[in-house]
Amino acid sequence: MKKRQRMAIQFAGVVLLMGLVTACKQSPEAEEHAHDHHDEHASVLASFESSVEDVLEHGATIQEAFESDSPDAAHDALHIIGHLIETLPELAVDTDLSESDWSEVKSASDQLMEAYGHVDAQFHGVTDGPSFADVKPTILQATEVLRKLADKSAAAKPQQP
Ligand SMILES: [Zn+2]
Repeated sequence: MKKRQRMAIQFAGVVLLMGLVTACKQSPEAEEHAHDHHDEHASVLASFESSVEDVLEHGATIQEAFESDSPDAAHDALHIIGHLIETLPELAVDTDLSESDWSEVKSASDQLMEAYGHVDAQFHGVTDGPSFADVKPTILQATEVLRKLADKSAAAKPQQP
């Protein structure tokens, strides 16, 4: 039961990521870059908490790039954050959080993936999609949900001796 659910979560994550990665395929350089990051994450045992922290960090980089009028500085971070967000639902299942918390992680991750997917699309020729400012409220709200759940998961961990 648990395994089946985990596979379902994993599958949904892959489908969503395809959107972001497909958008990036128009730039071979970007695709190669994305693959680098994928390999990196596959070989490193990241925790849910540390991955959320990375999402917050790259999210801040992206926001700063757009708000300081240098959006090009956001592109690398967008690819990195896409791969980080992809791993969150599965990492959450390995925490002591409840099943309803896992669902919250899943829906917040979906919202972030969609929002950042729109932002990334701007770098791949989409000119009539939502702007960063359009998706910013969604990003801030979903990021806050993840931050709270990461704190909750850290607090639920057994104390190290
Ligand atoms: Zn891109």
